[in-house]
Amino acid sequence: MWIELTPDADPSIVKNQLQALGLWATVLRGAHGHGLRVEVDSKVVAPEHILAIPGVADLRLASSKHPEVDARAGRLLRVAGHTIGGGTPVLLAGPCSVESEAQIHEAAAMVARAGATFLRGGVYKPRTSPYAFQGVGPRGLPWMRAAADAWGLGVITEVMSEHDVDVVAAHADIIQLGARNMQNYALLRAVGEAGKPVMLKRGMHAYVSEWLLAGEYLLSAGAGAVIFCERGIRSFEPSSRNLLDLTAVAQLKHVHGQIVIADPSHACGRRDLIPALSRASLAAGADGVILEAHPDPASARSDGPQALHREEIEAIGRDMGLTPLAAQRRAGSVAQTTGRPL
Ligand code: PEP
Ligand code: MN
Repeated sequence: MWIELTPDADPSIVKNQLQALGLWATVLRGAHGHGLRVEVDSKVVAPEHILAIPGVADLRLASSKHPEVDARAGRLLRVAGHTIGGGTPVLLAGPCSVESEAQIHEAAAMVARAGATFLRGGVYKPRTSPYAFQGVGPRGLPWMRAAADAWGLGVITEVMSEHDVDVVAAHADIIQLGARNMQNYALLRAVGEAGKPVMLKRGMHAYVSEWLLAGEYLLSAGAGAVIFCERGIRSFEPSSRNLLDLTAVAQLKHVHGQIVIADPSHACGRRDLIPALSRASLAAGADGVILEAHPDPASARSDGPQALHREEIEAIGRDMGLTPLAAQRRAGSVAQTTGRPL
């Protein structure tokens, strides 16, 4: 149940009154304004008792567990001058890890020439082993920003800790929440509060329903938008790193109307399958793909086997019908946009 407040109401006073009636409520500021959400398994109380509380303007029974996500169905996202979800597929690309200033500049040039509009790359890396390369840390963020700006690209990068949200938000256009953190609720809240668009990777064991609710955490905390990213789930099959769940891609797009990006790189873990899986993702309804590409995959400090070479990412860009940004600007062309902006 969603309780709307009058403009002068003090949400914490209303919350106490609700608790006195046996209702557990959370104060939220969402698409529907300032109000309180009452837990579904709270006590059943007649609406007239709730409406009698001073400061309560109205109440609505939630038809869904994720109303903020639902409120954004069918929207597109404009970020850093680029459109996602507008009908033209987008390519977000770059190395798994930011390794050096020179490497990320070279990578930005490479992906921009392939038609990407966002530069990806992690400065904080969630590695299975504590002895594996953990990322260059925050000094990589200005390198990434400058490299992206030089080519008119947006920046997408992962945050792993609540302590780093501010510095990441100051440099990134889209904050990435990694698969391992999809259910780190404190981090979801902190990232949401930064107000930026967030790309939420699906946890490797997460149900679609849990993924949608993680999106609801972000939006109810104030995230500018949520992009749902399918990056492969654990399966019984050991021959690929993960299993790209195209059913989930289709569900998120065609049932829930969300912005969806597929990540074939982490799904299969091998570069030879990425072109086919990228095409399949777009056919299933993805608004674009996020791909790992490296100027020299043999020297990559993480995820080398799935990093695309220059000519491979260029071929995928051509296959997606993308025009390199610099050429787009010269021709004065504008991205196709359908639907309402977020
Ligand atoms: C990544 O994008 O480099 C990454 C670590 O992804 P995931 O969270 O999907 O494993
Ligand atoms: Mn990676």
